[in-house]
Amino acid sequence: MYLKDKVAVVTGASNGIGREIAKRLAEGGAAVVINYRKSKEKAEELKAELHSLGLQAEIFQTDVAVFSEAEKLINFAIEKFGRIDILVNNAGITADNLIMRMSEDDFDRVLNVNLKGTWNCSKHAAKYMAKQRAGRIINISSVVGIVGNPGQSNYAAAKAGIIGMTKALAKELAKRNITVNAVAPGFIKTEMTEGLKAEWISEIEKNIPLGRLGETEDVAKVVAFLCGEGAEYITGQVINVDGGLVM
Ligand code: NAP
Repeated sequence: MYLKDKVAVVTGASNGIGREIAKRLAEGGAAVVINYRKSKEKAEELKAELHSLGLQAEIFQTDVAVFSEAEKLINFAIEKFGRIDILVNNAGITADNLIMRMSEDDFDRVLNVNLKGTWNCSKHAAKYMAKQRAGRIINISSVVGIVGNPGQSNYAAAKAGIIGMTKALAKELAKRNITVNAVAPGFIKTEMTEGLKAEWISEIEKNIPLGRLGETEDVAKVVAFLCGEGAEYITGQVINVDGGLVM
């Protein structure tokens, strides 16, 4: 149990990649706070699954885009488990459209959840991690934040912003022994990519050197590595998990 006695908060853990990350960290021995916004049933289901395996998990509803709500999420982890060792900023949404058609609201919503949500949770968690003189923050960005994508000017801006924020915080928090890294997935099979047309998917697969879309486990494994002993000396990095799509 390489994460024994560690406490992890995973935002957006009711679904997709976040769900898999929460599961993997709990399996590693961490007590996990499963954050969700709307999908209460799915969050409850994950909690029950982890409890049935004898693992520690609690759920907490929060919209990470709201500063005071993010504070409540981090405080919940402290009240329940007494500390916070790992924060995975995973909650994310898309609202794609070409700029001519994208509404201001779609721009603001995507920036608020993906980018400001990451800052909100990091700010509140960093306070406790600094006191503990230890912590790991892992931000889920996207390869879209590195190479861009038509129809995703809002999402690409948010994900690129996360990369800049990761590096700034890595430099700022290193003296408190807090590492901050980003993981940039490529195309991963989740609800977010479910809506893509089959022809699109086979087109995408042709451009992925490893020849397949990613699984949620592919991302969760890398996040788990960044939380463990092997990643002690890694900070300010962006690790692409994309089958070689971007290199
Ligand atoms: P997903 O299946 O749509 O899940 C998104 C999760 O975020 C859900 O648990 C959702 O909770 C939560 N969420 C959304 N808005 C929230 C908010 N305001 N506050 C708290 N939680 C919120 O998405 P996914 O594909 O797993 O993506 C997870 C992360 O990976 C995102 O940051 C995404 O941008 C990134 N990513 C995904 C891919 C991909 O191919 N799938 C590629 C690159 C990066 P509720 O359902 O409870 O609202």
